[in-house]
Amino acid sequence: MIKSFMHSSLRIFAGILLFVLASSFSIINPPKKTTEPKNTGTQHPNFFRNKNITDGPYIFYENNKVVVKWIKGEHLIKKTLSGDNTKYLRKKFGLNVPIENIKNPISGPINFVQQYKNIDNVVVISDVHGQFDLFTSLLKDHKVINANLDWIFETGHLVVLGDIFDRGPKVTELLWLVYQLEQQAEKAGGKVHFILGNHELMVLNNDLRYINEKYIHSSHKMNMVYTQLFAENTFFGQWLRSKPVMVTINDLLFVHAGISDEFLSAGLTIEKTNQIFYEKIIGKSWDLILNDSISTFMLSENGPLWHRGYFKEIISDNEISNILSYFDSNYLIIGHTSMPNIMSLKSGKIIIVDSGIKEGIYGEILIYKKNEFFRGTSNGMVLKLEPQAGY
Ligand code: ZN
Repeated sequence: MIKSFMHSSLRIFAGILLFVLASSFSIINPPKKTTEPKNTGTQHPNFFRNKNITDGPYIFYENNKVVVKWIKGEHLIKKTLSGDNTKYLRKKFGLNVPIENIKNPISGPINFVQQYKNIDNVVVISDVHGQFDLFTSLLKDHKVINANLDWIFETGHLVVLGDIFDRGPKVTELLWLVYQLEQQAEKAGGKVHFILGNHELMVLNNDLRYINEKYIHSSHKMNMVYTQLFAENTFFGQWLRSKPVMVTINDLLFVHAGISDEFLSAGLTIEKTNQIFYEKIIGKSWDLILNDSISTFMLSENGPLWHRGYFKEIISDNEISNILSYFDSNYLIIGHTSMPNIMSLKSGKIIIVDSGIKEGIYGEILIYKKNEFFRGTSNGMVLKLEPQAGY
């Protein structure tokens, strides 16, 4: 029921989006698009270097054993990790993940509060949708990672604002890279925030309408549906379930889609919202979700993973101020709605980071430095983010 509702809502939103895109093209000058995606495939010496491997690795916890599965050509390969031996992950995939982390992807209690203060440098990327090459080239160009794809952003924070999943062909690579960067950043005193988007939710909750054909093939080879590769008995499944939907860094509020008036009326905190998604929604059955009114609301068009209310002319400065003061923030940073470039709306109070990376051709990252915002382009330029007139 709710799925078909979301489906029809998506179509309506797509219509609104096309309208917004059409009108925004007339008032802004997006940077010149490159005609070809950057071919950075040969520059990953330590990461997924085995070209015969078409997908994986996926890690399953089966009968007290750690089982690694991947697809090589047309074949499924399956290995049980014995003792402390992670050589398959190192040799075949260049993944340097200690066995303790492979066995326990989440260390310590889950942080629902998600409040970070006094952070000087933040980079934000959103709606990557399987476009690993554009993701890595943007982060390399703007000195978040080096040519080996290792973290060089020191104590900076990288926010991945949802929707790694669906559409594109390199979702697994992205998940491993984000996991690895998370570990490296932590050691350097920095942080990676992977905030869940509606496409993470869809895959974990068995709505597979948008998965790339490659993943239909992989899951078929494993004799599973794609959702089962992210079930609770898997590495990715446990790791993804620990992720928040809302985060604040300094006076910046991050959420994948947006905050509605209805959300404010529900009187929820960030902590409570993250807890509800963790306990009642992500990877849970539709029966459970639909029997709970707050979970059902969270997945409606007014919920934080779907809301698209900021393009309506009727939304007043007052409403924006209400949202921001409710969360004690000055800026709302969102993805979810593709624009030709990163845009700053409503006198600079709302920043939309989804710059169409999903097409795999051009994209931007948001750079926050010394309380100022910049657009980092995939041509390597850094441009000051100016509020969009008329929005
Ligand atoms: Zn989205």
